[in-house]
Amino acid sequence: MKNVTVIGSGTMGRGIAFSCARAGFTTMVQDINDATLDNCQSYIVHQFNRSVEKSELSREEADQAINRLTYTTSIEEAAKDADLVIEAVLEIMDLKIEIFKQLDKIVKPSALLATNTSTMSPTEIAAQTSRPDRCIALHFFNPVPKMKLIEVICGLETSEETINLCFEFGRELGKECVRINEFPGFAVSRMNCLIGNEAMNMVMEGVGTVEDIDKAIKLGLNHPMGPLELADLVGLDTRLRNMEYLYQTLGEKYRPCPILVKYVKAGRLGKKNGKGFYNYS
Ligand code: NAD
Repeated sequence: MKNVTVIGSGTMGRGIAFSCARAGFTTMVQDINDATLDNCQSYIVHQFNRSVEKSELSREEADQAINRLTYTTSIEEAAKDADLVIEAVLEIMDLKIEIFKQLDKIVKPSALLATNTSTMSPTEIAAQTSRPDRCIALHFFNPVPKMKLIEVICGLETSEETINLCFEFGRELGKECVRINEFPGFAVSRMNCLIGNEAMNMVMEGVGTVEDIDKAIKLGLNHPMGPLELADLVGLDTRLRNMEYLYQTLGEKYRPCPILVKYVKAGRLGKKNGKGFYNYS
């Protein structure tokens, strides 16, 4: 694989695009929103500049990687030469299906289509394409440049060849892959969403302050971040969509905490817009 396309340039898309360009892939980034694409480009350039400051890359290597990236709002332009497309748009099943249907018509017959969904069924998305054997979920973690893991989630029809190519791709990115058979929430989100939701329930019940609950979990369980701080980093809108899907598919224990629902309704989306459980302004 040489050419990678990332659809969606938000929190995850920009990190995935950075990691692909850094690993030597020619990388196209597509989004419907010009302003988000501009932010994505600034973020990526900033990340490469920081890599140079930290002596992780030479200036020349960073510039070569920056030049491997192209940004566009056209899905046709972005995907026509792709060997692998990674979709990282909002966690909405109908939107993901719509994009996979479009991509299926645009990309080469040999191309692989991956979704970065945190919870949803790659089988259901793949079934709407003519290539379910070449569809898969590649679940990256936030922030992508730092996080080592990719969950490789096999749908019902995903071929062994597709899985092997994705493991090879993960190795080229310098990541560790785990093979997970499809089930709502896979391994990490299924666990992580419960922990985060329980922390929110504890805030609602008055068990402790946001800061103290995070501190307790960080120091008591040796987690690098508190669950509320992590929910803010993920984005509370994204987390709510994850919870709603898990509640629908796995039942009562995933019922979204009312505080989460209230915050999203109020427009508190976490770190990305300055206010969530913490204030970032
Ligand atoms: P985000 O809201 O930050 O970004 C989504 C992007 O998709 C936006 O830039 C938006 O403009 C773009 N978009 C919307 N419709 C589009 C379309 N039709 N075509 C092209 N672009 C479109 O969301 P995110 O947090 O990056 O999440 C993206 C996916 O990654 C979701 O499926 C989410 O569950 C998953 N995920 C998120 C995290 C996290 O920590 N945020 C971690 C792992 C996986």
